[in-house]
Amino acid sequence: MDFGFGAQDEELRGRARAWLAEHLVGPYARARGLGGPGSEHEGVAARRAWERELGRGGWIGQGWEAEGYGNRRLSLTGQVVWAEEYAALRAPGRVGHIGENLLAPTLIAYGTREQRDRFLPGIARGEELWCQGYSEPGAGSDLAGIRTAAVRDAADGLLRVTGQKIWTSLAQDADWCFVLARTEPGSRRHRGLSFLLVRMDQPGRIDVRPIRQMSGTSEFNEVFFDGAVAAEVVGAEGDGWRVAMGLLALERGVSTLVQQIGFAAELERVLAAYAAAGAPDPVVRGRLVRQWAELRTMRWNALRTLGAGGGAGGAGAGGGSGGAGGGAPSVAKLLWGGWHRRLGELAVEVRGAAAAAGAEPWAPGLPYELGLDEAQRLFLFTRADTIYGGSDEIQRDIIAERVLGLPKEPR
Ligand SMILES: Cc1cc2nc3c(=O)[nH]c(=O)nc-3n(C[C@H](O)[C@H](O)[C@H](O)COP(=O)(O)OP(=O)(O)OC[C@H]3O[C@@H](n4cnc5c(N)ncnc54)[C@H](O)[C@@H]3O)c2cc1C
Repeated sequence: MDFGFGAQDEELRGRARAWLAEHLVGPYARARGLGGPGSEHEGVAARRAWERELGRGGWIGQGWEAEGYGNRRLSLTGQVVWAEEYAALRAPGRVGHIGENLLAPTLIAYGTREQRDRFLPGIARGEELWCQGYSEPGAGSDLAGIRTAAVRDAADGLLRVTGQKIWTSLAQDADWCFVLARTEPGSRRHRGLSFLLVRMDQPGRIDVRPIRQMSGTSEFNEVFFDGAVAAEVVGAEGDGWRVAMGLLALERGVSTLVQQIGFAAELERVLAAYAAAGAPDPVVRGRLVRQWAELRTMRWNALRTLGAGGGAGGAGAGGGSGGAGGGAPSVAKLLWGGWHRRLGELAVEVRGAAAAAGAEPWAPGLPYELGLDEAQRLFLFTRADTIYGGSDEIQRDIIAERVLGLPKEPR
């Protein structure tokens, strides 16, 4: 695939730069570097307002396969250009990415015209934030074990959801949740599930309890539903598994390249910290170079997979074996999850013994925020990368069974 930036991209780069220079000021500028894993609790008000500012600029929904919802559609290279400019300025971590990158493409693929007209403008304006209600205490890797149920109320005909979700990222700030729930009583496994859209503001019907992590922060939550009304069913009732898996398969494409732009920026800061420390350890040096080489390989692979029309991005809990050469989403998830976790390990090794003590700036001029410094944060939060979106064990199982044809593991 030819991935050179053309004149149009450079023109877009100029416009993106100018827009960011004009708008990333005041409280938004103070929220630079905030957000993302380990920092979701920081600068929330400014980041919510920033989301709306991005919406007014038309920068949300660039990759949607639909337009006319207030979004500015961009080519693949255009989206990469925007992501590069955004990352270069460490612009605030997005609070609307679940709606923009997961729900919106799902509505475009599986929703009705009315559902798209109702929900896409709110996402494109940065006004309505979403969270993902898939996992439950007994249904993570084994997502088909879902027990949250939705039944039609005989009195008013409304679908009412009862049950518990867990690890629901950003539920504390979300306006809406897409919920996978059992709508056919007595159904088993992946049959009889529905993909529901549930408004979070239902006092007495929805209880969001933050999960406090050992780092002291709370990025995700337990969410308890007690007869909460589901406003919409996406796809046919009882066909939610197909929609839910479709959503996970949509979590791909250019988002992999965008994610790698963030990874590259983090690696650069680890390299700068290593150089600032006097490049003390040749073994760490070798591992840093290897890390860089692997990132290049992942980038080429993402470009190649995008060029082939296959998904390069994350596999979900159920994963999937589609894509170029079979198992592409699982291969990509295994590669980036492990890579990012190793970067976190390198970050604290570069800091040396000091990383085990209190937070400190890595080197003069490098960021230093609140209780954890960036190296500690990277180390702690990249432990999750080999779990969410489908753990490494599950990805290896998918590849073993569906691609390599190996016998199933005993259950
Ligand atoms: C940071 C973070 C954010 C998240 N955000 C969300 C969110 O917004 N919404 C949401 O719905 N969920 C979210 N999750 C949940 C995530 O999808 C689950 O943690 C994940 O699917 C694993 O499920 P589990 O935690 O129940 O672990 P389990 O499924 O109980 O697995 C525990 C361990 O057993 C292993 N294991 C399980 N089954 C097998 C098997 N068959 N063979 C071999 N090994 C196996 C797993 O690999 C894992 O190591 C998030 C998780 C994290 C870490």
